[in-house]
Amino acid sequence: NDIAARRGLFLIDDACHALGGSFHGRPVGSLAGLNTFSFHPVKHITTGEGGLVTTDDPSLASRMRLFRNHGIDSDHYQRELEGSWEYNMTDLGYNYRLTDLQCALGLSQLKKLNKWVMRRRAIASRYDAAFQNTDLVRPLAVGEGVDHAYHLYIVRVPGDARGKIFRGLRAEGIGVNVHYRPVHLHPFYRQRFGTGPGLCPNAEHAYEEIITLPVFPAMTDDMVDEVIEAVKRIVRE
Ligand SMILES: *Cc1c(COP(=O)(O)O)cnc(C)c1O
Repeated sequence: NDIAARRGLFLIDDACHALGGSFHGRPVGSLAGLNTFSFHPVKHITTGEGGLVTTDDPSLASRMRLFRNHGIDSDHYQRELEGSWEYNMTDLGYNYRLTDLQCALGLSQLKKLNKWVMRRRAIASRYDAAFQNTDLVRPLAVGEGVDHAYHLYIVRVPGDARGKIFRGLRAEGIGVNVHYRPVHLHPFYRQRFGTGPGLCPNAEHAYEEIITLPVFPAMTDDMVDEVIEAVKRIVRE
């Protein structure tokens, strides 16, 4: 926000990982001019597919409503209420509507979001505590004022062993993963913008060392401990 204000930029927050998180007490979703969330099945809450944008700017909100509705400035509910058949297409738009069924699914899960985020935080603290005194597994630091939503729980392991550690944990039936390959290493960006290795050395270095451990609200303490033991054992080996 500071950089955007200084440079006269408009800030859009890809907040897909942070639903339920906050920064110095301000909920994610209220931090930037536009804030986007995904309800893809892997996210905190899901509507199957689809997502949500938040803004405190009424003119942007109405433009988005227009855009998702073929550029038409009223929907059939409004026309029904007004007893009118007329509508105006005032701009070029498309069909980006979530279905009512998806919305019902999302709203019912929204009620459970706080409970689920609390459970994710408890799992993350259990991992943090367990790895605190091991020098081979390093949890990621959390910035000051951040209430993390823990879409993912990521640790750093020695880069030259990451592949072996990944395969070892998968062989134990533990669903580890790697998030993410830096954007500038993807073929599209390389070809279109000429990016590649060396452009973002810190991101590239971090990418070699990261591994994502399981975290989901239904995960029990016993399951967390099982992961902790397996990680410690396999990293030591
Ligand atoms: C999931 C995700 C997206 C993509 O969301 P879609 O619903 O597939 O559009 C974008 N950014 C981040 C950070 C995500 O986690």
